[in-house]
Amino acid sequence: MKEFPYLGGYPEQVTAQVRTLIAEGRLGTVLLRKYPAPHDIRTDKALYAYALAIKNASLRQSPPLSKVVFDGKIHVVHQALGLHTFASRVQGGKLKAKNEIRIGAVFKIAPPECLRMIVVHELAHLREKEHNRAFYQLCNHMEPAYHQLEFDLRLYLTHLELFGALYRGGGAEGADWE
Ligand SMILES: [Zn+2]
Repeated sequence: MKEFPYLGGYPEQVTAQVRTLIAEGRLGTVLLRKYPAPHDIRTDKALYAYALAIKNASLRQSPPLSKVVFDGKIHVVHQALGLHTFASRVQGGKLKAKNEIRIGAVFKIAPPECLRMIVVHELAHLREKEHNRAFYQLCNHMEPAYHQLEFDLRLYLTHLELFGALYRGGGAEGADWE
């Protein structure tokens, strides 16, 4: 079986377990048992409110969030997570940082915890641009189960790639939800 693009950084014993789940046809069942339904964030407006609530709860001292959107042009960018942009604009002679978060439209349909993990990841980039120790400390501060959720997200993406949509009624592209 070919290697899984989303599980590259994990130890062999972990990927071996995933390979077994796939071989036994149980990956979808395992995911559905843990995450029976997708989140219900359908619009950019709802996504912005969702991200802002997490930011206000645990990352108050960070720059304001100007925009949070689902972006259909992002497919597998930034290892299938989000895509943070730090666009700078000249406003009234001053250079202002404009913090946007773009989430791949593929995540319009995903387990709630996976969306949370992606949003937490992107929020952490408001403070730390690199994937360094401080960055992951921020992620864990916002979401103590961050690393487990990232692994689960990678399992979800693996399922999507190998078997298509996990949730009935949800296309793999997430295109029919708007
Ligand atoms: Zn990142």
